[in-house]
Amino acid sequence: MPELPEVQTVVDGINKKVKGKKILDIWTDYESPYFCGKENIKDPKYFSFFKKSFAGKKILKAQRRAKNILIFTDSDFVVLIHLKMTGHLLYGKYFWNKKEKIWEPDGGFAEGKSAKEKSPLQNTFNRFIHLIFKLDDEKFLALSDMRKFAKICLIKKENLDKYLEKTGPEILPKDFSAKNLKERLFLQKNGKIKSVLMNPEIVAGIGNIYSDEILFSSKIHPESIISKIPEKKFSEILKNSKKILEKSLKVGGDSMSDFRNIEGKRGDFQNFHKAYKKEGEKCSLKNCSGIIEKKLIGGRVGRFCKKHQILYK
Ligand SMILES: [Zn+2]
Repeated sequence: MPELPEVQTVVDGINKKVKGKKILDIWTDYESPYFCGKENIKDPKYFSFFKKSFAGKKILKAQRRAKNILIFTDSDFVVLIHLKMTGHLLYGKYFWNKKEKIWEPDGGFAEGKSAKEKSPLQNTFNRFIHLIFKLDDEKFLALSDMRKFAKICLIKKENLDKYLEKTGPEILPKDFSAKNLKERLFLQKNGKIKSVLMNPEIVAGIGNIYSDEILFSSKIHPESIISKIPEKKFSEILKNSKKILEKSLKVGGDSMSDFRNIEGKRGDFQNFHKAYKKEGEKCSLKNCSGIIEKKLIGGRVGRFCKKHQILYK
């Protein structure tokens, strides 16, 4: 599931390539009877309202809040996209394949590349197009989403703060201190650190990958109880959170799974994992002889080294 660095990578891509374009038309095949009456474009009635609200509107900017992509337009509404498990946005030329009834990336060749070199938009992971914004530059902003779990809705600008009021604070700003982090985590002081770090109402944007990596580097066992963790450890958690999230942002996010940037290209952070999906491997920490293990913690699989990650309980 895309976490803070991946969602920010998408937002940066939109601001770089899509900002200022006008939305001419919107298409979807997301509709599902399970969403009838819900505020989600999977309800056909809601989708027609969504389409009417944004057709002809200009994309002013994109912003990230937690794992939500917010696209501001010159209408009274903001488009909110939560990518969930497998969603990612793509920008390029597409055409409707009548026979297959699917949207196909046009041409298939990367700009400036030889005809033999396929465009990254042709990659299998980018071929599950379920939402299309037709733009005024003959290109499209498309949402590929293999498992169709993404959430897309519209929110009145004046209601946006209310909609996001339960979302925890962002961890990256310079003024977010170890004291702030400790206060947030202590809201669930009897909880296990991995689960609490991943709770979007406690802090924003951290999921399974980054919680594993942050705790590995902070030398804390993922099942440690918040209230038992020594005071000085909170500054270490914060320092490692910032370092790891910024590193991933710098290399374009994590593409171990489906995530691609808006050009359809992979990020690189999967090459820097020390714990996530490393089970069975020797711990990479200098002078540690541990082996990375995996264990179900609060319904999610945590990966860690029992040898150097201390259990506080
Ligand atoms: Zn170790």
